[in-house]
Amino acid sequence: MSQDHLIKFQCKECDRINYYSRKNKKTAQKKLELKKFCKWCKKHTLHKELKK
Ligand SMILES: [Zn+2]
Repeated sequence: MSQDHLIKFQCKECDRINYYSRKNKKTAQKKLELKKFCKWCKKHTLHKELKK
């Protein structure tokens, strides 16, 4: 039963993909933006969710 979607989190400042995550259908509805550390920017930046 793996209905989970693989999602990526892309740094809004450098557009690099830094994090991968999974979430299930119930939470897949809304777009996520998370503040995460970007090793390229060397600081915490907003990361937006990319589908697929
Ligand atoms: Zn970055």
